[in-house]
Amino acid sequence: MVNRKILVMDDEPMVCEVICQVARSCGYEPFGTGDPGKFEAAIRRDPPHVVVLDLAMPGVDGVEILRKLSAHLANIPILIASGMDNRLLDAARQLGEARGLKMAGVIQKPFRVEELRAKLEKAVAGAGELSEEMIEKAVERDELDLHYQPYLDLESRRIVGAEALARWNHPERGIVSSAAFIPLAEKSALIDRITQVVLNKAIAQLARWNQSNMPVDISINLSAKSIHDVDFPDTVFSICQQHAIDPAQITFELTETAAMQDPLTLLDVLTRLRLKGFRLAIDDFGTGYSSLAQLRRLPFSEMKVDLSFVSTMLTSRDSEIIVRTIIDMAHNLGLRTVAEGVENAATLDHLVKLSCDLAQGYHIARPMPADQFAPFLTGRPARQ
Ligand code: C2E
Ligand code: MG
Ligand code: MG
Repeated sequence: MVNRKILVMDDEPMVCEVICQVARSCGYEPFGTGDPGKFEAAIRRDPPHVVVLDLAMPGVDGVEILRKLSAHLANIPILIASGMDNRLLDAARQLGEARGLKMAGVIQKPFRVEELRAKLEKAVAGAGELSEEMIEKAVERDELDLHYQPYLDLESRRIVGAEALARWNHPERGIVSSAAFIPLAEKSALIDRITQVVLNKAIAQLARWNQSNMPVDISINLSAKSIHDVDFPDTVFSICQQHAIDPAQITFELTETAAMQDPLTLLDVLTRLRLKGFRLAIDDFGTGYSSLAQLRRLPFSEMKVDLSFVSTMLTSRDSEIIVRTIIDMAHNLGLRTVAEGVENAATLDHLVKLSCDLAQGYHIARPMPADQFAPFLTGRPARQ
């Protein structure tokens, strides 16, 4: 495999070293520096595959660097890492995009190693390391699998369901998270094939859990891009019938990463899914295209509050107000609320106070293979 180079610019030597270590453990060749001159020289001498850039450094800031080096940075995915607040980070990302740079996302310090790893993988996918052909082969070789992340009912304190998340068992790299390949698959019809695989596997798994007397609900992510076929509700319904599954056990989480080309078809499909008894959640609410307009237009039954608000709600007053307001609004609209990205007990307690219905996050459990989920459920009994 070609060496994938990552250039890290951070004035805190410890942070720089940690980022380099994580990059190395992911199989990349890192070069870290806190010196803008060295950074610039490295960019000019040997362009890396990915750049990780600190936003605020003494004497120079990341925005200046992006402006000055924009010609050299074109086509290199840039991940912004900083301790500044989320809004500022987001503004810097938008600025980079407006300059035509390939912004791979933002990571707020202090960060978790897994979070950094996932973002680096995603950035590398953007650097062309993963191609559509590779994903297509993975589908053909049946290398795609599902991990399940439990969600907790905050009233009964029981695990009542799990979200199915796509994973790629890569023969060389090990398990690749969905963040690294779903966005790429969404650029073509490949996402439709992935949706088919995920649907079949998730529903078959649900049937196995039902048969083992472990009835849980399951959530399946659906990219709005893969909804262009008006027969979709009939297809899923017949898969459910084959497995004797009640559609009420399935929630479809709609993620929308691009403006819809055919809003009428989307409305048709989502309405018929609800008529057939499936539940429907608006995913990542508060970000991107998961907007108030969508909420009014489409027949959702559930709202998932985006993890960027939930995971920062104890440290950012703004985030806390946003989470509180979203939960209130959802309840007033008659929707069930799910908080995603619950990373500690204090956040969970606070969500209980805000009357949130369900919670999901690393504090409760990480996504896991189906065989690990079963004992987890037995340990903490599901609905009776
Ligand atoms: P999502 O549906 O919002 O899924 C939640 C993501 O947050 C998952 O990442 C999960 O592993 C991660 N997560 C869960 N708890 C925590 C936490 O406490 N802290 C943090 N920092 N992260 C947490 P994952 O599995 O990489 O999935 C990324 C996105 O890829 C998903 O976001 C979803 O939009 C998409 N995706 C995943 N599987 C599928 C699929 O089968 N089909 C489609 N269309 N999209 C999928
Ligand atoms: Mg989801
Ligand atoms: Mg989400």
